[in-house]
Amino acid sequence: MRIGVYPGTFDPVTLGHMDIIRRGAKLVDKLIIGVSTNPAKSPMFALDERVAQVRRETADLGDAVGVVAFDALLMKFAEAEGAQIILRGLRAVSDFEYEYQMAGMNQQLNARIETVFLMADVALQPIASRLVKEIAVYGGDIRKFVTPRIAADVLARVADPRAPLTDVTAPGG
Ligand code: ADP
Repeated sequence: MRIGVYPGTFDPVTLGHMDIIRRGAKLVDKLIIGVSTNPAKSPMFALDERVAQVRRETADLGDAVGVVAFDALLMKFAEAEGAQIILRGLRAVSDFEYEYQMAGMNQQLNARIETVFLMADVALQPIASRLVKEIAVYGGDIRKFVTPRIAADVLARVADPRAPLTDVTAPGG
């Protein structure tokens, strides 16, 4: 069985991530989305909330996709999941330097696991979680960049830092 891992912070998951997930899921038998703790980024949503959000938004993909939290070296996580592929999305030149270094070092850590890069639909390429949060904080419309439930989560969190997620008990949540 071909297994891929797609790691990221997903704070929050955007339509850009969702597009990469859908494309990636077609390339492997099982795509495991690894939601990383990443405390250095001071996330808007806690780790368990980000996992719940990604589960909720990918519920329609069924068993083809799994969502797990991870707090380890990416290569160790990929090995533990039995993956042959690490999936990353590439947006622009700005992503390239970091991704190039990471893929190169990961090759040295385990040459049997390949990093595969995908590009999102052209309209979704500029989307970044950081900008979605910034736009929301300044009262802009984020509905073109995230799903309606993620938009509701972000707006609620901007209004009240303790606001709970919307509808986390939805199927797959
Ligand atoms: P990280 O903290 O690892 O950058 P992110 O959640 O921001 O995690 O992103 C996870 C992966 O998804 C990265 O490979 C990133 O380049 C990719 N990605 C994010 N947004 C987009 C997008 N709009 N189009 C294509 N790839 C994207």
